[in-house]
Amino acid sequence: MIYSIEEVITQIGAQRYGSKSAQIGFLLTDSRSLCFPEETLFFALKTDRNDGHHYISELYRRGVRNFVVSSVPVDYEHLYPEANFLRVLNPCKALQRLAKCHREEFHIPIVGITGSNGKTMVKEWLYQLLSPQFFVTRSPRSYNSQVGVALSVWLLNEETQVGIFEAGISEPGEMAALQHMIQPTIAVLTNIGDAHQENFASMEDKCREKMILLKDAEILVYPADDPIIQKVVNDSDLRGKKLAWSMSDKSAPFYIKTVEKKATMTTITYVYHEHEDWFSIPFIDEASVADAIECAVVALEMGMSMSALDERMQQLEPVAMRLEVKEGQHGCTLINDSYNSDINSLDIALDFMNRRPDQQNRSRTLIISDIDQSGRQPSELYKEVSNLAVKRGVSQLIGIGQQLSANRNLIEMPKKFFFPTVEAFEKSEVFAQLHDEVILLKGARRFNFDQLTERLERKVHETILEVNLNAIVDNLNYYRSLLKHGTKLVCMIKADAYGAGAVEVAKTLQDHRVDYLAVAVADEGVTLRKNGITANIMVMNPEMSSFKMLFDYDLEPEVYSFRLLDALVKAAEKEGITDYPVHIKLDTGMHRLGFDPQKDMQTLISRLKRQNAIIPRSVFSHFVGSDSDDFDSFSAQQFALFDEGSKLLQAAFTHKIIRHMDNSAGIEHFPERQLDMCRLGLGLYGINPRTNQVIHQVSTLRTTILQKREVKAGDTVGYSRKGTIAHDSVIAAIPIGYADGLNRRLGNRHGYCLVNGQRAPYVGNICMDVAMIDVTGIDCKEGDRVEIFGEHLPVTVLSDILETIPYEVLTSVSNRVKRVYYHD
Ligand SMILES: *Cc1c(COP(=O)(O)O)cnc(C)c1O
Repeated sequence: MIYSIEEVITQIGAQRYGSKSAQIGFLLTDSRSLCFPEETLFFALKTDRNDGHHYISELYRRGVRNFVVSSVPVDYEHLYPEANFLRVLNPCKALQRLAKCHREEFHIPIVGITGSNGKTMVKEWLYQLLSPQFFVTRSPRSYNSQVGVALSVWLLNEETQVGIFEAGISEPGEMAALQHMIQPTIAVLTNIGDAHQENFASMEDKCREKMILLKDAEILVYPADDPIIQKVVNDSDLRGKKLAWSMSDKSAPFYIKTVEKKATMTTITYVYHEHEDWFSIPFIDEASVADAIECAVVALEMGMSMSALDERMQQLEPVAMRLEVKEGQHGCTLINDSYNSDINSLDIALDFMNRRPDQQNRSRTLIISDIDQSGRQPSELYKEVSNLAVKRGVSQLIGIGQQLSANRNLIEMPKKFFFPTVEAFEKSEVFAQLHDEVILLKGARRFNFDQLTERLERKVHETILEVNLNAIVDNLNYYRSLLKHGTKLVCMIKADAYGAGAVEVAKTLQDHRVDYLAVAVADEGVTLRKNGITANIMVMNPEMSSFKMLFDYDLEPEVYSFRLLDALVKAAEKEGITDYPVHIKLDTGMHRLGFDPQKDMQTLISRLKRQNAIIPRSVFSHFVGSDSDDFDSFSAQQFALFDEGSKLLQAAFTHKIIRHMDNSAGIEHFPERQLDMCRLGLGLYGINPRTNQVIHQVSTLRTTILQKREVKAGDTVGYSRKGTIAHDSVIAAIPIGYADGLNRRLGNRHGYCLVNGQRAPYVGNICMDVAMIDVTGIDCKEGDRVEIFGEHLPVTVLSDILETIPYEVLTSVSNRVKRVYYHD
C-alpha cells in the first residue's frame, strides 16, 4: 500500500522541511537493508550504539529522499536539495504511530502472540496451518521488538486476510506500544518463563505486562495449567472470550485428554465444544506439543474443521532454531547455542541434542556457564539445570563460572567438573580428553564461548588457503575508481567467493557497503545470512526447491524463464508475500539462461503485471567476451539488444528498475555501458581478466614439507612408476593432492611449486592427498613452507599450464583446505 508524504506527515504529526512530492511504500530503519530507495521512508533511530542520522548522506546518495529525523541536518537545502525531512521528537515513536494508523485500516482477524518461549514457532505453525485457506501476512523471522513489530505490521496490505504478529518484551512498560500497533483480535500467551526476569520484580509482574497484549482482544488463548497465568487472568479485566487449554481441568474450554508419544509423532486427544477429537504432529518434544495445542485452538476458533486440522497438523514442518552444529576435533560433534541463556532454552537445546541422529552410542556432555538474567535463586536454578541434564541423558557436565562452581554440589551427575573461566578449562586435562561425544555448549555471552568453540572445532593445519582481505578491499577500490559517479556495484561471491570463502569475503564487502552480493545458489545465501550478513543478496541460480528458503532469508532470485517465473510467483503467493524483489535476466548472446529480449518482452511484462507477489528490482544481461577485443562488435550487438529489451521493461513500470550489464572486464573495457550498476567478479579476487595480470594479490595456497628423502637414479616415484629419476635426487612429499584441488595434470613435471622461493617440479603422478616434488639442490627441510600458487607464483601460471582460466584453478581448491584470513 502506498501513502503520500502528506498523509504520513499528518499521521505522525511531523514538521516538514523540503517540499518534494513523494509516495511511500517502504519503511527502513537499517541502511543496509535498503532495496527500493525511491519509495522508502527512512527513520533515523537512535540506539545505545548507533544513530541513524549518521546514515542520511549515504542513503541520499543511494537514492533515498524521505527521512524521519529528530534533528534536521544543517544546510539541508544545499546538501539534500531533493529531500523531505520530517522532524519529530522521537522517530521510533513516529514509526510506531505510523504502524498503528496502518493497522487501523484493516478489519480482519489479527493474531498477536506473546510469551517467553515458542512465539516464533506458534507464529510459523499457525501460518503453515492457515495459509492454504487464507492470505496471511506475518512477522518476518522474529521481528518482535519495538521496531520489528512496526515493520511487521506495515506489511499488511490489501490482499491480507489474516495477520499474525509476535510481540516480545524485555522490560516493564514495553507491551503497551506493541499492543497499540498489533491490536490483536485473537491473542495468544504461550507461557511464562525465566527470560528477562532480571528486569521484573516478580514472575507475576512479567505476566501482567505480557497480559496487556490480551486486554482488548476478542479471543484469548493461554495455558490454564500455569497457576501464575491463571491468577493474573483472574485478576485482570479482560473482555474477550477466554479459551484456556488444560491437561488437567476437564471443564477447561479446550481440554487435553491424552498426549500419546510414539517414535516420531505425537497424538493429542482433545475435547472442544463437547466434541472429542484428536490430531497428530510429526514431533515428540514437549515444546512442540504445547505450541501445537495453541495453534489448534486458534485454527479451530477461526473456523477450521477438526478433520482439516488433523490433516494439516500432520504436515507441520520444523522451524529452524538458532543452534549451530559443527564438526569437532577427536570425533566430537559440537552444538553451539549462544542465542539464549535462560533455563527454558537450555531445555530446548538439550532436547535438540537428544534428537540428533548422530548421538547414538556417544556420550553427551554439557558445557554450561553461569546463567545470567534469570532473577532466580541459584540454589533453585542449578538444581533445575542438574535435573534437566539428567533427564535428557547428559553424562558429563562442565560448569564454567564462579556461581556454578560455588553451587557444584547441586549438580548430581557422575562426571562433573568446574572451572572459573573458559581459559582455565582450556588448560585442563578435562579439555584435552574430550573425544567421541556430542557436546552442547551453552554460555552467556560474557563467557566468550565462541573462543571455546573455535578451539574445539576440527582443523586441518598443514595445507591452507591464505586470503588477504585487505587486498580484496584494494581491488574493490580499484574497480570503484573506474566507475562513473553513482554507479552501483554487485560483488560476485558465488562459488564460495571464487574459492576464497564467501562468509569472510562477504563480511568485508558488507563493511565496505557494496550495494549487492551475488551468490550462485540459495544455500550459499543462507550460509551468509546465518553468519550475520545483512546486505542485499542476489541468487543467480535459484533452484525450484529453494523458494521458501529465499523468502525466509531475504534472498533475491534471478528470474530467467517463464517456468521459473510462474513457480516463483506461486510460491510467493502461498507465503503471502508481496513485492518480493527479483532480478530479470535477458539472454543477449550467451545462450545460457535468460528471456529473449526480442521475443519474450511483451509476455514477460504482462505476466509481471498480472501479479503483485514479485517485483522486478533489476534487469541485466551478461557479455560473452568483454575480456577480449576480438568480440567487440558482438558485444555491441549484445548491448543493443539489452538496451532495447530493458527499456521496454522499465517503460511498463513506474518504479526505477536497475539496469546492469558490465562484469569485471566490461567495467574497464566498456565504461560507457556501466549503466546503473556493474557486476564485479574475478577482478575482486585480484586478477585482471583482460591482461591476466595480478592487481592486488588475494589468495595464496600453501602447504609444508612432510618428509624428505634421497632417491637413486633409475628408481621411480609414485603410482604406476611414472616418475622416473634420471639422476640421484632429493624428493619431498607435501600434504596436498587432487582431492584438495591440486590438478592431477600438473604432475610428471608439467607444473611446479615454490620451495623457499625456488621452483620444485611435481614428480610422478599426483596422489589423492599427497604430491611429491623434486627439491634437489634446494636448501630446505621437513616442515618448510611450500607455495602452490599465490604471492610469488601467480595463479595464472598454473591456469596457463593447464590450458584453462584462473577461475577454474581458484574455485577448485576444495572445502577441506582451511581458509585462513588476515589483514596486513
Ligand atoms: C560470474 C558472473 C559475473 C562476474 O564475472 P567476472 O568475469 O568474474 O567479473 C558477472 N555476471 C554474471 C551473470 C556472472 O555469472
